[in-house]
Amino acid sequence: MPSRRPLVGGNWKMNTSRAEAQDLAGAVITQLEPSILQACDVTLFPPFPWLTAVAEATCSSPIGIGGQDVSDQSQGAFTGQTSAAMLIDAGCSTTLVGHSERRHGLGESNAILNAKLRQAISAGLEVMYCVGETLSERESGQSEDVVAMQVKEGLDGVPAGDLDRISIAYEPVWAIGTGRTAAAEDAQAMHCRIRADLENQYDARSAKGVRIVYGGSVKPSNAESIFAQPDVDGGLIGGASLDAEGFVEIIRAAASMSAS
Ligand code: PEP
Repeated sequence: MPSRRPLVGGNWKMNTSRAEAQDLAGAVITQLEPSILQACDVTLFPPFPWLTAVAEATCSSPIGIGGQDVSDQSQGAFTGQTSAAMLIDAGCSTTLVGHSERRHGLGESNAILNAKLRQAISAGLEVMYCVGETLSERESGQSEDVVAMQVKEGLDGVPAGDLDRISIAYEPVWAIGTGRTAAAEDAQAMHCRIRADLENQYDARSAKGVRIVYGGSVKPSNAESIFAQPDVDGGLIGGASLDAEGFVEIIRAAASMSAS
């Protein structure tokens, strides 16, 4: 296993009431052994309105909080958007950029995602940048090219010195929320390709340090085999992160990889 520290994110999407969000965060904290948190980074991505409540619930634990999205603008007349500075003010250390439900559901392009990523980094946030091919792209043999372009264009203009604040989530769109998971070897092959592309775009040392996590119907029953792959550094978990017990099991599986 390379020296990268495992990372697990819980993307709650547009789920939970305020009370449910606080309870869920509390249950994750209670169930996670301190030794696990010493071996693995954990970030929760609650809905925007609950960020402050969840930040309060997690403030005495090493669990981080992140936004599910961020504006490409720093402030001003952008109704409904949330700036990087606002996320930081609400207690966030991280933000997702490019989740497929925004890329494909809301038509966000690589160019806009690049602007969001750079805005977040320059404001001081870390970024988990999501990439992944659709089913039709996979079936027509375009997966690697599509993902390579998402990585190249999404990171355009980002200097190597900022890469330590960026992780990449490889999330095949056909595996998100569908119950279908990429075979562990297929996930490894794509992660390996992403790392090779990062090496071309930057250098070997920088590429080796970037954490690349897998997302797409990860559950307690399949987490271990996926996380065992040498270029898989953890996971971005959607549906299964809404159940504290299952989410904690997934985190334990990631943490155990840093010990192996
Ligand atoms: C996600 O939302 O990033 C995700 C991977 O969802 P799920 O785990 O439900 O497939």
